[in-house]
Amino acid sequence: MYRNFAIVPRIIFGRGCFNQLDDILQEKRTADGFMVFIIDDVFDGAALEGRIPQRRGDRIIHVNVDDEPKTSLIDALVGRIRGYGSGQPDGIVGIGGGSVLDIAKAVSLLLTNPGSSAEYQGWDLIETPGIYKVGIPTLSGTGAEISRTAILTGPEKKLGINSDYTLYDQIMLDPELVAGVPKDQWFYTGMDCYIHDVESLAGTFINQFSKAYGEKSLELCRQVFLEDHDDAADKLMMASYFGGMSIAYSQVGACHALSYGLSFVLGVHHGIGCCIAFDQLDEIYPEGVAEFRTMMERHQISLPRGITASLGDADMDLMIETALNLVPLWENCLGPDWRELMTPERARKLYERM
Ligand code: NAD
Ligand code: ZN
Repeated sequence: MYRNFAIVPRIIFGRGCFNQLDDILQEKRTADGFMVFIIDDVFDGAALEGRIPQRRGDRIIHVNVDDEPKTSLIDALVGRIRGYGSGQPDGIVGIGGGSVLDIAKAVSLLLTNPGSSAEYQGWDLIETPGIYKVGIPTLSGTGAEISRTAILTGPEKKLGINSDYTLYDQIMLDPELVAGVPKDQWFYTGMDCYIHDVESLAGTFINQFSKAYGEKSLELCRQVFLEDHDDAADKLMMASYFGGMSIAYSQVGACHALSYGLSFVLGVHHGIGCCIAFDQLDEIYPEGVAEFRTMMERHQISLPRGITASLGDADMDLMIETALNLVPLWENCLGPDWRELMTPERARKLYERM
């Protein structure tokens, strides 16, 4: 059976396209309705916030992403929006990096589906479409703008709300918005994209659809991280989109599985966690890891070392279990007999080196 997956139906791309947000929202506004803008608090009081086309009744919610999105945060935001007592919003607009993009997706879904967001961590558990939602990335690499998942850390697991309803109705790709990203963060999140491409292209699930997107994304990443281009921000924004499209029909692999463990147990963020894990995966992705190190060197990035050194046995076991539970990722990476190849002992050795 081939997967019949949905994609984002409306996309606008170009420098300054953020200025068209008002027109885009206009079509969705109802007489007494209101919009909710969920924006990364790094923009609190910044010029971008001033450009939000706020109309009467609209709300702006600042969110802090020092911790990656938790189910408790989603539930609190949904409660806050319901507390406005104005009925359902006409739309939710997420403005930020992968964290805010996932938060806005999940809030849209939980406004129309009962219970806690933790109940929907998994595959196709959402039954009712969410509120109309618009995603506007301010940091490139995760592919969250086009993916059908909203990754959340819950009380029991770090797992996405995966469904066709999770997809944005509209995305706005404006390369000007990434201007203020700190260099390290730019690199880590950019490498998330590069690693999506490597894991997708090297995986057993690869087909021509994924390959076409993955190869283009990889080419753009190489231009961004190994060459100098005036339009590097435009290139990385498209690389992120293409990388996300590539994994939509394939999967990520060992690096992402191991990074989920780092994130769940140590709270390591996605981009840097992927870099830390990838740096130990020569045995699985030799060429990709060698090129990644060249990119690190060129941009003078040094990764933290020894982050698992002080972990007790119970935490290490939990980290290994978290990683090895991601069955599709390992199947893509190592094939159907992956359990014989990636034993808990081997995963432990990899973690001990990080
Ligand atoms: P992020 O959204 O966590 O942001 C990282 C930092 O960059 C934050 O401090 C943020 O405030 C700052 N930032 C963002 N835009 C900025 C700007 N323009 N100027 C200055 N600072 C800015 O980082 P990320 O790497 O984009 O996202 C990681 C999150 O994405 C994780 O929660 C991860 O689970 C998720 N993710 C989701 C998917 C998906 O398909 N849904 C895929 C990969 C990762
Ligand atoms: Zn990723």
